[in-house]
Amino acid sequence: MADNTKVMIGKYTRREFREAMDSGQLHTAIVVTGAIEQHLEHLAMEHDIAMATHIATEVATRLHPHVIVTVPMSFGLSEHHMKHRGSQTAKPGSWLSVIFDAVDGLARHGFKNILILNGHGGNEAPMDGILWQWQDYYKTTAPGVNIQFQSYWNLAREISEQHCTGAVPGHAQDYETSTAMYVFPENVRVEEMHHQDDKEPLNATMEKGRILVEAAISKTSDYLQQMIDGQHREFARQVFSRERYLSKQKA
Ligand SMILES: [Zn+2]
Repeated sequence: MADNTKVMIGKYTRREFREAMDSGQLHTAIVVTGAIEQHLEHLAMEHDIAMATHIATEVATRLHPHVIVTVPMSFGLSEHHMKHRGSQTAKPGSWLSVIFDAVDGLARHGFKNILILNGHGGNEAPMDGILWQWQDYYKTTAPGVNIQFQSYWNLAREISEQHCTGAVPGHAQDYETSTAMYVFPENVRVEEMHHQDDKEPLNATMEKGRILVEAAISKTSDYLQQMIDGQHREFARQVFSRERYLSKQKA
C-alpha cells in the first residue's frame, strides 16, 4: 500500500503544499470518484471508491512529487442500487457540482493536469455528457489546464478482458471480486459467495486480482505521465469505450 502522506492533499500543511507548488514539481492532480453501494452479498459497499483511491494513490506515489490525490466525495450516482439499504446515491446535479468544484479549486491554484479517475460505472454517463463543456471552459479561461476523465479499468481493458470470465468491470463479479481479494481481502466474505444466486464471483482469485490491479496502476501511470508530457489534450465527448462495455455486457 502506498504511503499516502506524500500524495493525499489533506495530509499536507499549507506551507508544505505552497512550497511543493512553488518549486514547480507539483503540477498534476487526480480527483477520485466512485461509489458506496451494495456489491451483492459478499463484497463490501466501499469497493468502488476504495479501489479507485487505491489505484490513484499508487499512481501518485509512482509519479511523486509531481502528483497529488484528492477524494472530494465518496459516493456517486447509484440510484439503481437504492433498493438495497445502505447504498448511497448523489443526485446527478449535486454530484457534478461537487466534482467540478474540486477540479476548479485545483485549476485556480495552478494545477496544469487534472485527471478524474473513476471507480463506478454509473458515474460515466453524466461525466461523458458534461466533460467537454468543462474542457471548453478551461480552453477559454485557463488554456494551460488539461482535464480528462477515465475509469481505471478502461485504461487496462485489454489485459483485463483476457483474464476475466465476465464483463469488465461488471458489478461485484469476477473482476471486482478478484481485485478486492488482492487489495482488501478483508472486504470479501468468501463463504457468502457460495450462498447467493449469482455464481460468477466464484471465478475470482487473488492472483488474478494482482494482475488486474497492477495493470490498472501501470496503465493509469502511463496515461498520466503522457498528460504531463503534453499528450491527451483532445477536447472530446467520448472519452471511454462505453459502446464496447455495453456490448460486452449483452454478450
Ligand atoms: Zn463496483
